[in-house]
Amino acid sequence: MKVPAEIRTHCPYCNAHTTHKVKLASKGPRRTLAEGELRHARKLKGHGGKRAGKKDVVKQAKRQKLMLTCQQCNKKHELVLGSRTRKKAEIKR
Ligand SMILES: [Zn+2]
Repeated sequence: MKVPAEIRTHCPYCNAHTTHKVKLASKGPRRTLAEGELRHARKLKGHGGKRAGKKDVVKQAKRQKLMLTCQQCNKKHELVLGSRTRKKAEIKR
């Protein structure tokens, strides 16, 4: 799936249609000490049968996001590509 490097879309900060620079949004670093992450680790600890997190879930597609930077106000916001896309998004030059 090819995505243009620049698109014209709504900016929630300017509240208008402006041109945006497009980048693929990264997941960011894993927050190993976050509350939910600790709770999840606690749940998986020890014996006591299979639990939801232990199963190997194979997902067919990923939710890919684009990071849009507004050219007017220089603020960033995200855009989800479809609901789930099977092909990897790449930016068209
Ligand atoms: Zn803006």
